[in-house]
Amino acid sequence: MTAPAPATRIVAVDEIAAPVASQMRNAYVDFSKMTCSVIAITAEHRGRRLTGFGYTSNGRYAQSGLLRERFIPRLLAAPPGAFADESGDGLDPRTVRGVLMQNEKPGGHGERSVAVGGLEMAVWDLAAKIAGEPGHRFIARRYGRAVPPDRVTVYAAGGYYEPTTSFAELRAEIRRFVDLGYPLVKMKIGGAPLDVDLARIAAAVDEARPDAAVAVDANGRLTVEEAIACGRALGAAGVHWFEEPVDPLDYGGLAEVASAVTVPLATGENLFSAQDARNLVRFGGLDPATATLQMDPVLSYGVVEYREMLDAAAAAGWAATRFVPHGGHHLALACAAAFGLGGAEVYPTKFQPFGVATPTMRIDGGSMPLPDVPGLGLELRPDLDTVLRRLTP
Ligand code: MG
Repeated sequence: MTAPAPATRIVAVDEIAAPVASQMRNAYVDFSKMTCSVIAITAEHRGRRLTGFGYTSNGRYAQSGLLRERFIPRLLAAPPGAFADESGDGLDPRTVRGVLMQNEKPGGHGERSVAVGGLEMAVWDLAAKIAGEPGHRFIARRYGRAVPPDRVTVYAAGGYYEPTTSFAELRAEIRRFVDLGYPLVKMKIGGAPLDVDLARIAAAVDEARPDAAVAVDANGRLTVEEAIACGRALGAAGVHWFEEPVDPLDYGGLAEVASAVTVPLATGENLFSAQDARNLVRFGGLDPATATLQMDPVLSYGVVEYREMLDAAAAAGWAATRFVPHGGHHLALACAAAFGLGGAEVYPTKFQPFGVATPTMRIDGGSMPLPDVPGLGLELRPDLDTVLRRLTP
């Protein structure tokens, strides 16, 4: 007897590179040419056609070449049932990474992790739609976890260097975030001399208090010596955390900074594998009681790899609540709920419409509701839905 045909068959995978351009910069990147890949995976399931959507977070550009030349063909060439769940009715997205990563060497993760993570996001969306469950509950169930909360603590990231930024404009942006209800706001540093950045930080802290705290992000721009000097000043300024003080892969340098400053540290958004995360907690000198780990499930191969990062950190004594993923996207919010993380980053004004936060969304009690529809809920944003419709007939 042959096994029955799986009830779900992937019939099409489409990708477009969409602009997320804006006239801002951080210490390293001018975002005027930034793009992301938007992905649609369409399946036939018991006579219905369903489409799952994903997009490749932000900050790493579209992955069109890798997707079209390697990963989409591998997904479409997988044998029938390769992604089936144990019932044979739906999909188990945990099967995707192994299929996509056939014939790939370990290490040197480059940006293939971004392509794979975007595809995996679309499969999670599709699989949750087939199951008829909101994405965060579907992820929790697949990992045998209790029903997760329907809200996640979020903080607002912004405070970029813009061509016309003055302290008045920085203050206005911080004020906007505080008035929307965010309890924590984050701004960029490291792209100006330290005295200028300290004056910007003082203005932001003045604007945010007493309703919100201020974190700062140097995007890995500083040398170890600069980061130590900066970190000591930030401790005195009452900054909530100091993000990516040095190059994200310089674990020894980070450990030097960690031993010299008292301000809490945050990093991890540019580590794309569980092995990198393991090395960070082994060698980065971070304090598991105060540091924040910001790995991004879309930038790093998807939920399967992200779960391995959580497990690697847990084995070294880190609580899941120390994880606050980068990216502001729908999969990060769902993972934050499903795995009981400490919260999630969102961008109320940047990278629109690719994110969960809109410029006018109020944040009651410092937390954001998860979409209450089957899947990850990308279509609930009309401006994002307009982009998604370019991918579906
Ligand atoms: Mg950052």
